[in-house]
Amino acid sequence: MLDTLRRIVQEVNNAPDIPSALDLMAKRVRDAMGTEVCSIYLRNNSEERYVLMASEGLKREAIGRVSLGLSEGLVGQVGLREEPINLEDAFSHPKFHYLAETGEDPFHAFLGVPVMHHGDVLGILVVQQRDARRFDQSEEAFLVTISAQLSAVIAHAHASGALFEQLDAHEKLPTIYDGQSGASGAAIGQAVLLFPETDLSSVPDREVEDVNAEIALLDEALVRVRQEIRDLAERAKKSLGAEEQALFDVYLRMLDRHALPAEVVAKIREGHWAQGALRMVVDAHVHNFEMMDDPYLRERAADVRDLGRRVLGQLQSRNRRQIEFPDACILMGEDISAPMLMEMPQERLAGIVTTRGSRNSHMAIVARAMGIPTVVGCQNLPLKKLDGKELIIDGFRGRVIANATAELKEQFQDIIAEEKHLLAGLEKLRDLPAQTEDGQRICLQVNTGLMTDINRSIERGAEGVGLYRTEIPFMVRDRFPSEEEQRLIYREQLSPFAPHSVTMRTLDIGGDKALSYFPIEEENPFLGWRGIRVTLDHPEIFIVQVRAMLKASEGFDNLRIMLPMITSVFEAEEAQHLIHRAWLEVREEGVDVAMPPVGVMIEVPASVYQARALAQRVDFLSVGTNDLTQYLLAVDRNNRQVSDLYNSFHPAVLHALLHVVEQAHEEGKPVSVCGEMAGDPASALLIMAMGYDALSMNASNLLRVKAAVRQVNMGFLRRLLNEVLAMDNGEVIASYVDLQLTKAGLGELIRHRKSG
Ligand code: PEP
Ligand code: MG
Repeated sequence: MLDTLRRIVQEVNNAPDIPSALDLMAKRVRDAMGTEVCSIYLRNNSEERYVLMASEGLKREAIGRVSLGLSEGLVGQVGLREEPINLEDAFSHPKFHYLAETGEDPFHAFLGVPVMHHGDVLGILVVQQRDARRFDQSEEAFLVTISAQLSAVIAHAHASGALFEQLDAHEKLPTIYDGQSGASGAAIGQAVLLFPETDLSSVPDREVEDVNAEIALLDEALVRVRQEIRDLAERAKKSLGAEEQALFDVYLRMLDRHALPAEVVAKIREGHWAQGALRMVVDAHVHNFEMMDDPYLRERAADVRDLGRRVLGQLQSRNRRQIEFPDACILMGEDISAPMLMEMPQERLAGIVTTRGSRNSHMAIVARAMGIPTVVGCQNLPLKKLDGKELIIDGFRGRVIANATAELKEQFQDIIAEEKHLLAGLEKLRDLPAQTEDGQRICLQVNTGLMTDINRSIERGAEGVGLYRTEIPFMVRDRFPSEEEQRLIYREQLSPFAPHSVTMRTLDIGGDKALSYFPIEEENPFLGWRGIRVTLDHPEIFIVQVRAMLKASEGFDNLRIMLPMITSVFEAEEAQHLIHRAWLEVREEGVDVAMPPVGVMIEVPASVYQARALAQRVDFLSVGTNDLTQYLLAVDRNNRQVSDLYNSFHPAVLHALLHVVEQAHEEGKPVSVCGEMAGDPASALLIMAMGYDALSMNASNLLRVKAAVRQVNMGFLRRLLNEVLAMDNGEVIASYVDLQLTKAGLGELIRHRKSG
């Protein structure tokens, strides 16, 4: 059964388009279950109906025409109950709704299961049979399993709107694709698909006029690939036996003019560009191999795929720089690397969207630093279909909109204009203090990582750096930077902010932050070897970094060192000991620097309860609310599946924050917040009411938070804090704070926020 399941899923995933995927699904499920009918009904949200989208066994003319209301018929019942309905005789069920157009008269046995995705019913999968009999448990389990496996395919079909578009070609519905915010802001522009080189599946369809030129390109590519294979074969002679050598001959035979290339040429003659033609031919062969029962032959699919990649690599080496970037360009791709961003004309880059990746990908980090609205992890985005189309990027809420109606587009144009206007208005606050109406001050600092962040921070009047993420310069290299390289990088951070302090966090890798040259493979990386745990195990890395920091601060004396992921007191003590050692070493080398203040991040629950003990030993504390929220709520900060549960207004988070500030102040130590909560005006105000000394945030949020601070008084803030501390529901707290701040006239500042 498992094998059948795997094969159906694979085959459906390889289907060229969604209607064929659904047709295949119906056919294969019917065959696998030995029933007479298998049908797929999908929910059309705009019409609030289940539409028959594919069927094996019912009349073909009914497909796309027959539909049922959301509570109509047995299909509607399955949707309402969100569970399977298994009936020996559907006709005798009171909810049975006879659909004459489908020709379902002879079918008595009925089994329907909902297709669920993220808690929503996307459609109903139905099998029917002539004889009146109940489907048995294993059949029911099979259908439920296949429905769960295929829900992603259906979700994609649903999200792309492509299906319903086909039913009514005139009406192009706006389609919203959910992802994660990578950088806030909104943008409207024309999508340009960047496809990773040598990734066949992401080659889009394109038409060509000059067929001969495409064929010539293909020929040149083939000549080079054949040579590449011959070279490989030559090299392999030394290490491989005769049998393996034969593999290379097979490869070469496949590349013979009359084999695969002939098919590609035929596709080019139909008007496809060489890369697209190659993809189609390779896909078809891969598909055929994968369908074979013989496991050896199935594996051959990999050879064809590999050859395809090699030819594509050669084709792309010619075509690489031919992308034309429109004036307002939305870069789109599966994964976009940070260097790719740098390669395009910056003034044309309006927004970015990727189907993979998370907020912590290099690209998202760079996009935030550049202030480019970005959505990441937008899994259902049909990249090839949207190439060249107009898209709206909603980086506030992490979604992308295609086929927007005129009204929707206008709404976003207004948001973009409002944001621009708001920012222009905020600029005059640059040199004014972050101070409430009744004179309470708070220090507003920035989080940095790249050089780009520095100018933006200075322009916005930051009072120093509350978190310099040193892993970022490590992440954008292909090896550990040397002590001298690090010294130069750190000096560039320290000098522009002097005399304000710059808080440098020691290397915080692990979790979702990886160095390509220092791979960490773990089952459960967020609970694994990360932050201080790695650097205490590698004092040679830690000490070099601290020495570089100390040397870089010579003449400025504005360095503070901060330790990430501290869970126990001994980790702070051990790190302090190493820092002291590094300090003695550089002093001995004649570098004249004072011992810098050393602080710890409070970002795991254990450190919340150790806050007092930690505060006794170090010079300052800083709460990393991003990790603290994830660990307190047990919600992976990058997992879309549970992103609704990630709520920094959760009472547990607020009470933890209060506890930390109280403990730090008992010991007379300053304490700040450097997670995203500090950059959100609503949570920033609550944190200020708790008595925190400083807030450190992304530069793009600084003036917004300052404006919010300057429009309230402490009496109001303390009352608000006391009210929310008495509440027990994070969602309610978030809405209540929004409401109260809107009433207090801060609506404009908090309206489009969500992330930073
Ligand atoms: C945090 O966890 O809140 C934090 C500031 O650190 P990072 O986001 O780099 O993990
Ligand atoms: Mg953290």
